[in-house]
Amino acid sequence: MPELPEVESVRAQLAPVLVGRRLAQVEIADPRLTRPLDPTEVARELEGEVVEAVDRRGKYLIVRFESGRALLIHLRMTGSLRHARAGTLPDDPHQRAVVRLDDGSDVAYRDVRRFGTWLVLEPADVPAYVDARVGDEPLDHNFRPRDLGRRLANRRAPVKAALLDQRTVAGIGNIYADEALWRARVHPLRRAGDLTSEEVRALHRGVRRALEVGIARQGSTLTDYRLPDGSSGRMQTEFKVYGRAGEPCPRCGTLVEKIRVAGRGTWYCPRCQPPPQAASSSSSRPSRSSRQSSV
Ligand SMILES: [Zn+2]
Repeated sequence: MPELPEVESVRAQLAPVLVGRRLAQVEIADPRLTRPLDPTEVARELEGEVVEAVDRRGKYLIVRFESGRALLIHLRMTGSLRHARAGTLPDDPHQRAVVRLDDGSDVAYRDVRRFGTWLVLEPADVPAYVDARVGDEPLDHNFRPRDLGRRLANRRAPVKAALLDQRTVAGIGNIYADEALWRARVHPLRRAGDLTSEEVRALHRGVRRALEVGIARQGSTLTDYRLPDGSSGRMQTEFKVYGRAGEPCPRCGTLVEKIRVAGRGTWYCPRCQPPPQAASSSSSRPSRSSRQSSV
């Protein structure tokens, strides 16, 4: 499933292709993509729009038009976009939509599982729609450890479940949650609200680093994810723990273990990421400041 690094990599490749182009012809073959709206009507609405920018919020691609309207694309499980000269894309039973641009090239949308969505929003509706579903952008320079701490405070859910909630931090899914928690040395089952401020800082750093590495490798291709030029991401060969049960932790050599958290396969190092019991007994020791104040 595409997460922030994958969607950002798609955005970065699509932006130079789309910006300034007019959508000359739009065909949407799958009604699930636009439901409950009629796909033919949505296609007619899109035709003639000129692309002003291609943005991203969390896992949403936002194609902004000069008219002020926007097309929000969510790739969900298996959605992907391809760009090619018209007529050069191979026949594809999973192709759900094709946009012909005014330079004679095509942007095609393919989706095997068909959970992806295309939604056209009026200018006034875009911020409210996105902000209701997506929290802070973790790579935004304004996003500080205290912002993450505020989102985790008082939550009894496991920290991994809290990270998967898009309103906690935008764009993190199963892969980068595990990678971020390993970097922060935090066990995925720790209660979100129990993390010390030091652990929150480590997790903030871990989230950013894991996402930055993912973007630098243009995301991870496990099955369906492709970049618009058809190439694969390279992150899948560099996971620290994700999908590596029984292999040595790159930091300490202990074998990586797999459990289920929030219904998702979850990989962690049992030594670097102490389980909730051990972690809470160590964090209940007096902190440095309280020890100092008692002197
Ligand atoms: Zn380890």
